[in-house]
Amino acid sequence: MSWEDNVRRVVPYVAGEQPKDQNVIKLNTNENPYSPSPKVASVIKGFDCDGLRRYPDPDVSALVSALARHHGLDREQVFVGVGSDDVLSMAFLTFFTSGKRILFPDVTYSFYDVWANLYRISFEDQPLDENLCIRKEDYFKENGGIVIANPNAPTGVSSGRAVCEEIVRANPDSVVIIDEAYVDFGGESCVPLIENYDNLLVVQTFSKSRSMAGMRIGYAMGSKKLIKYLNDVKFSFNSYTMSAIAIAAGVASVEDEPYFAQTTAKIIATRERTKKELAKLGFVFPDSKTNFIFAAHRTVPAQEIFEALRAERIYVRHWNKPRIDNYLRISIGTDEEMDRVLAFLKAYLRDK
Ligand code: PMP
Repeated sequence: MSWEDNVRRVVPYVAGEQPKDQNVIKLNTNENPYSPSPKVASVIKGFDCDGLRRYPDPDVSALVSALARHHGLDREQVFVGVGSDDVLSMAFLTFFTSGKRILFPDVTYSFYDVWANLYRISFEDQPLDENLCIRKEDYFKENGGIVIANPNAPTGVSSGRAVCEEIVRANPDSVVIIDEAYVDFGGESCVPLIENYDNLLVVQTFSKSRSMAGMRIGYAMGSKKLIKYLNDVKFSFNSYTMSAIAIAAGVASVEDEPYFAQTTAKIIATRERTKKELAKLGFVFPDSKTNFIFAAHRTVPAQEIFEALRAERIYVRHWNKPRIDNYLRISIGTDEEMDRVLAFLKAYLRDK
């Protein structure tokens, strides 16, 4: 018997590559191509470093209050963490203890099965239909919890609030997590359902629509009861998850609504234009309501296009996984970046 027999063995999540070379077009991790709000920059520049002697506020009150105001909720309905990965992981640990299998789609954010395995939660994935949409009936059976990314990743497909509501209503004995990482790019949020369902947890992030992936801020919204249970687990784990700088920067971002509206609208416009151009080049894709497009080419395999793009220093995401290995997930960059990608693809595909 060795200590190695007692290690918690896990197969970790593999994040998209972060190339050291700055001279690339990076469309592989759904980052925002625009800077965070200038108000975030001025808060960070003016930050009083003497304050770092102290521990940050363990209740993250300033940011919780700003988010509660923004979403029209009470402060007791908001929980903040170190990116939505931290929040989701904490929610798995808190709510999925029944021993029954939890349910999520077979093609979805690939961290869900990693957390399930880490916490020894059994799960059963539910196949998306031929149009890469979830089938709500798959979630009308006994389960230990449900997780749905809406819009889904990496497909970009959005289900309506009514579909989510049916799933939440059919499962009063489970917690249903709706992961809205991409909702600000045209999806339909489930936040308005929170007041009617105490088993619904909606998770959002500052990493995409607020251009702050590097700051690591995510949050959950739900009934006061759900949020209390999440906080109990958090305070049993690490009281000070959010740095003082992250808290101040997060508040500044939430308080700049016009900038947020302007940059998300710009990305949506670029996405819609990119869809038209990709279709002309022979790509097919489900309709995206996110800051990425999940596209397959009618004749050229995704792996080949992926490698050709990479040789051109254009990074997109490709998974060698069943069902999705002929797709590329292309994040929406600036108009100039998308023009360069489209020009390259046009020339490359002409020779095929
Ligand atoms: N949910 C989904 C569906 C995502 O794609 C991501 C980004 N990888 C996350 C959650 C986590 O984002 P973050 O931890 O940066 O908030």
